[in-house]
Amino acid sequence: MSKALDFLKDELADLAAKGTMLTIRTLEGEQLPRARYDGKDVVNLASNNYLGLAAHPRLKQAAADSAMKYGAGSGAVRSIAGTMTLHRTLEERLAEFKDVESAVLFQSGFSANAGTVAAVLGKEDVIVSDELNHASIIDGARLSRAGIKVFPHKDAAAADALLAEATGARRKLLITDGVFSMDGDIAPLPALVEVAEKHGAIMMIDDAHASGILGPGGHGTVAHFGLQGRVDIQVGTLSKALGTLGGYVAGPKHLYDYLCNRGRPFLFSTSHPPAVCAAALAALDVIAEEPERIERLWSNTRFFKEGLASLGFDTGASETPITPVMAGEEKAAQELAARLWQEGVFCPSIVFPTVPRGKARVRTIVTAAHTEDDLSQALEAFASAGRALGLIA
Ligand code: PMP
Repeated sequence: MSKALDFLKDELADLAAKGTMLTIRTLEGEQLPRARYDGKDVVNLASNNYLGLAAHPRLKQAAADSAMKYGAGSGAVRSIAGTMTLHRTLEERLAEFKDVESAVLFQSGFSANAGTVAAVLGKEDVIVSDELNHASIIDGARLSRAGIKVFPHKDAAAADALLAEATGARRKLLITDGVFSMDGDIAPLPALVEVAEKHGAIMMIDDAHASGILGPGGHGTVAHFGLQGRVDIQVGTLSKALGTLGGYVAGPKHLYDYLCNRGRPFLFSTSHPPAVCAAALAALDVIAEEPERIERLWSNTRFFKEGLASLGFDTGASETPITPVMAGEEKAAQELAARLWQEGVFCPSIVFPTVPRGKARVRTIVTAAHTEDDLSQALEAFASAGRALGLIA
């Protein structure tokens, strides 16, 4: 073996010394509110399985049936021979879900964001982006070669000023997450839409953590604020509340047609296996037929947030089922996560570079499938770990 990669060992030692090395745990069995990771049974506050659909019998049955009927793989990229009836049907259902003309599937939420931003914008253009937007937006913006201007978190006035400065740009894009993945707060979408309209900018939202969660019927941030028709591009993911895998881009039909011709992940990466599409369709059915799942998600969210607050934890600006518990330094967050793990609660520490230095935290996500018992047990573990580390009195 050559020594060409030996420098990676030094990089890894550096990560370990800084306390930013990740521990990757292995799930043995299904994605459930109580699950077994690395041989240990824990209350699971680490997944994005908001509605408990990843292991729902209807999704599993739909996946199994469709694999038997249509096979294990699609066999090609969408644009050559890999567009199946199921892809089309799922796209139509997602367009209805988002109340727009069309939706185009991508292999992941990541590729939906990155592929869309890179396809729609070019080097003559300017992208104005919230500082806490997801990595896939940042990567898409870099790939597009457009000018990138970052505004302070949720600061619509700053976005307004940046768009006003971009006088020479051919096109402008204003882009935000709907719900921010590490803080759980909601974008000030009404103000951002006004700013985009004022400057004739394209308004785009990444609704990965809002679809199936926020707004009437879980239709997302646009529906939550009643802004239908005023957001040009809505990205969603199938991999969180919808319990499966994949991303989609919802908007007008000409956006659909354009991305089918210019979206590089669409063109150059094989399409979803039928089982995934069938399971995602079943997820949309369950969401429509069992609205109590979303209600349960929010009542669990309130219960858990109130519990953390009454213990005296700092949970930042969260307004959604994503609740960070602030620890400060990287090591403190890692110790908190480690103690919680010992007490039988799994939630990851989130450290630099995912969040700024000094803002390390553990991130909790409750789901509709948790019972009050699960959450009470988790709160007891937080109480003893938080006291032991001096995070609460
Ligand atoms: N956007 C946000 C805000 C996310 O949190 C994620 C998932 N981490 C994605 C996009 C990417 O979605 P996916 O996991 O489907 O690629």
